[in-house]
Amino acid sequence: MEKTLIDQYGRTLNYLRLSVTDRCNFRCYYCMPEEGVNFVERKDLLTYEELEYLLAIFSEYGVNKVRITGGEPFVRKGIMDFLEKMSRMQGINQITVTSNGTLDRDQMIILKRLGIKKINISLDSLNRQRFFEITRRDKFDEVFQCILDLLGMGFDVKLNAVVADKKNISDILPFIELTKAYDLSVRFLEEMPFNGSGSFEVPKWNHVVLYEYIAAAYPNLIKLSDEKNSTSANYRIPGYKGSFGIIASFSRTFCGTCNRIRLSATGEFRTCLYGPANTNLRDVLRSGASREELIREIVLAVAKKEKDGFEAEARQAEAPKKSMSFLGG
Ligand code: SAM
Ligand code: SF4
Repeated sequence: MEKTLIDQYGRTLNYLRLSVTDRCNFRCYYCMPEEGVNFVERKDLLTYEELEYLLAIFSEYGVNKVRITGGEPFVRKGIMDFLEKMSRMQGINQITVTSNGTLDRDQMIILKRLGIKKINISLDSLNRQRFFEITRRDKFDEVFQCILDLLGMGFDVKLNAVVADKKNISDILPFIELTKAYDLSVRFLEEMPFNGSGSFEVPKWNHVVLYEYIAAAYPNLIKLSDEKNSTSANYRIPGYKGSFGIIASFSRTFCGTCNRIRLSATGEFRTCLYGPANTNLRDVLRSGASREELIREIVLAVAKKEKDGFEAEARQAEAPKKSMSFLGG
């Protein structure tokens, strides 16, 4: 019989978001504080060998799609060799990457050769000054050039923009205009409570407000059909090459069809971003557990996947204060 990971609500979980590091060369305000971030010690990270071992189990149990994330995946030494190995693993037929744009042309060439086609790049502003205020790094030109290079090399590029009041509202319409000339998808995300500080306000610019704002400027927008398990509601402006999407990441309107599980760089295994770690697979692995014991741990955790992000959040004793870079975005 085919092995699959199925939760108590009958959802098949075939999509793993794998964080390879909690470190990052940027300091986006919504993700981590400007200073004093306590990154984990190297010995606490899952080694590449451990990651391969776990991935082989996940793929045997039906996980066929893996998104590499972090922290910034390209700051971890050895990442390209790891991706190379991953691309040869049986069963994993789609590898995607989320990055802040810290990858060079040589790395892009390797990604292409490995068959990695879809890349998400985080970009919250098209204005150099606002980009600096948001990321606390003066890297707009490099990131934008990276996006142009990726497009030039034929990658399927999605831009992720976290939208927030007093930060980048004036970027929303320019982002849509960007899709006129470029065949990419810009996705607007609601801010989530994972900035590493514990303080958070419910986003004013939620998916409804965002949609109404855009629809008022573009009454002719066309709704596109969304992929199964999609977290974004997608649209296009007639005649524009690209498209845009709205992701209700805080409002959590898409949990019913969620197919995602997450593994942090330190082995924390989550069935929902908003919930506590169900188990730590690094600890289970390093305690000398057999393959069968690890599988049992994963299958049990998965079965208990929360109905939605609100139920998951309620399982946490206190308000979330972990950084997205630690959780794995
Ligand atoms: N460093 C890479 C990057 O920035 O794309 C990958 C890791 S990052 C944690 C993954 C995604 O999470 C990014 O698109 C980022 O914008 C998003 N993200 C981080 N913190 C967030 C928050 N508090 N609310 C919404 N999205 C967030
Ligand atoms: Fe780094 Fe990505 Fe977090 Fe920004 S969102 S600080 S780029 S991990």
